[in-house]
Amino acid sequence: MPFCPSCKYEYLPGIAKCPDCHMDLVDELAAAPQPQQTEWADLVTVADFRYDWEAQSAKIRLQSYDIKAALSNEIISQVDWPVAFMTGGIHLMVNREDAKRALEVLAGEG
Ligand SMILES: [Zn+2]
Repeated sequence: MPFCPSCKYEYLPGIAKCPDCHMDLVDELAAAPQPQQTEWADLVTVADFRYDWEAQSAKIRLQSYDIKAALSNEIISQVDWPVAFMTGGIHLMVNREDAKRALEVLAGEG
């Protein structure tokens, strides 16, 4: 349904302008602020490390590029990870939206 962004009145489909405000109608009013998402809503693993110091240094490297990173052994207590996820060393994880950039930084192209 089209809405007038000014008076918020809802119009029938096919109407393009609000006759009252002379505003172009929009499909949706600006979304209300989303409820705060958990900090680590959509993590992906970008690297695995055997040793904590390796993992820490990679994490610090990402953070120096303003990429928020976490190590699996630090956040396990906060999240209900599948068991398989906890094996195989220390996982360096970032939010999905940062994953591509994180991989570039870790590959030395940052
Ligand atoms: Zn209007």
